[in-house]
Amino acid sequence: MKKPPAQVDFIVVGAGVAGLRAAIALAEAGKVLVLAKQELTESATQYAQGGIAVALSDEDEISLHFQDTINAGDGIVNADAAHVLVEEGPDRIQELIDWGTQFDRKGTRLTFTREAAHSRDRILHAHGDSTGREIGRALYAKASTLKNISFSAFEFTASLYMEAGRVCGVRLISGAGDMHTVTSGAVLLATGGAGHVYINTTNPAVATADGIAMAFRAGAEISDMEFVQFHPTALYLKKAPRFLLSEALRGEGAVLRNSELHRFMPKYHDDGEMAPRDVVARAIAHELEVCRLKEPVVYLDLTHLKADHIKARFPRIYATCLEHNVDITIDLVPVRPAAHYLMGGVRTDLEGRSSLPGLYAAGEAACTGVHGANRLASNSLLEGLVFGARAGHAMRNEKASGKTAAKDAGQPVAASAPNSDAEHFIHSIQQLMWDKVGIVRSRQSLMEALERLQTSTMETPAPTSRRACEARNIHTAALLITRSALARLESRGAHYRTDYPEHEDAKFKKHSIVGEKGVRFI
Ligand SMILES: Cc1cc2nc3c(=O)[nH]c(=O)nc-3n(C[C@H](O)[C@H](O)[C@H](O)COP(=O)(O)OP(=O)(O)OC[C@H]3O[C@@H](n4cnc5c(N)ncnc54)[C@H](O)[C@@H]3O)c2cc1C
Repeated sequence: MKKPPAQVDFIVVGAGVAGLRAAIALAEAGKVLVLAKQELTESATQYAQGGIAVALSDEDEISLHFQDTINAGDGIVNADAAHVLVEEGPDRIQELIDWGTQFDRKGTRLTFTREAAHSRDRILHAHGDSTGREIGRALYAKASTLKNISFSAFEFTASLYMEAGRVCGVRLISGAGDMHTVTSGAVLLATGGAGHVYINTTNPAVATADGIAMAFRAGAEISDMEFVQFHPTALYLKKAPRFLLSEALRGEGAVLRNSELHRFMPKYHDDGEMAPRDVVARAIAHELEVCRLKEPVVYLDLTHLKADHIKARFPRIYATCLEHNVDITIDLVPVRPAAHYLMGGVRTDLEGRSSLPGLYAAGEAACTGVHGANRLASNSLLEGLVFGARAGHAMRNEKASGKTAAKDAGQPVAASAPNSDAEHFIHSIQQLMWDKVGIVRSRQSLMEALERLQTSTMETPAPTSRRACEARNIHTAALLITRSALARLESRGAHYRTDYPEHEDAKFKKHSIVGEKGVRFI
């Protein structure tokens, strides 16, 4: 991989679904640099299993996809954003198919499956449970044919470069550890989510909220950070990563059992295992509390389903569990919830524009309000495609209108050696956030977290290495999540407080914006 150029027309930070789709949209308008902090293939996109939601089957309608998105978001979905998502989704999927994406088919017909809170079978999948990897492959293959796009892997974006209040580049720490600047007319943050703010997460290691934290430091508005989706079923084995066990398993008939092997979901919700994610995650947390003297896990049971079908439909899940000596067709699978998806992020309009001139965001790093307080399963890959493309077009149009111009940067600055305290610092925040700002929250737990986070601000490692920058970003995101959760005096979607267990529509049927001085609701 070559060293990145010093100056381009557009910088795209992130090579997941949102970044790649935006880069493709930008390629006609000038030189595009796509940055990734690890390999280009290391992103949440690569791990997305279940699929991508789109109203394309004969029995489905766009209006039903819209309604399901609104219902899942628990009162605060931005309806305009949801319209854009479900209406432009089919065209973005057709485009992906034209670019070579191999979705699973029966004969020539696309096959659709169902996930929780969807009223129709509308989830497209690829190679059974490798949907994100296949979409990423096809997007990268397409982007690689466009000569204006260049890629730089292992280039860590440490901060935004600003002049006269406009974002016009990024400061990078290279794989070798030196720091340099690339300037551009505009910057798109497509840096993904914040799973690693928590000790248990399904997210890959790149998900450390870098884009959100650097945008916040630069003065951009950050919205809806209290809404963290906890996936109910991550594999829970000592020394194994919290590998996601897709909702589609429950869609195919898998059931949840507690340590006494009782099926418990029907007592929490009429839809049983197919209840919304937050309901299932809270039910598991409750079961674990009730049964706390026994195993600290519940079990996903697929043993009554046809083994051949499970192996064919979920080859990656089957193989990964087998590596950890769990055969999902005959064994009960130990699971617990884990942090999975952030509904909040850099606040943008429907074209990906943030509140800062020159700065755009798309995908999980962004917040259009399309997911409201709770994301509908399989809507995020679609979000990356739809809003990535839109952000790309908006950046292109801004350039055409002559508002942006790439600038020369200053001299490179050498970064000092990695900070050995970073690992310990990160671990302590992750544990604190899991214990105090997790699936179930209260004023007391949130205040404890806030006080400890504020105290530890002084201990934040100086941002002179990649890991130290990640430590600072995780700390910043933890503060933003905690402040927002403390200010929302109600329960809604993925945000649940024992001291305010109901909706408080009059005050909080709104989006939050968190700043240094407090949280406001609009
Ligand atoms: C295990 C798992 C399963 C999932 N399953 C599904 C599913 O079935 N359907 C669905 O719709 N969604 C699913 N999701 C959610 C979905 O995958 C993500 O929301 C989506 O892929 C995010 O795409 P993105 O482009 O915004 O970010 P990502 O795909 O996470 O890409 C982020 C990119 O930013 C780069 N980056 C980050 N920080 C920096 C930095 N400081 N400097 C340089 N580069 C940086 C990374 O290197 C990476 O290239 C799943 C998520 C996980 C973790």
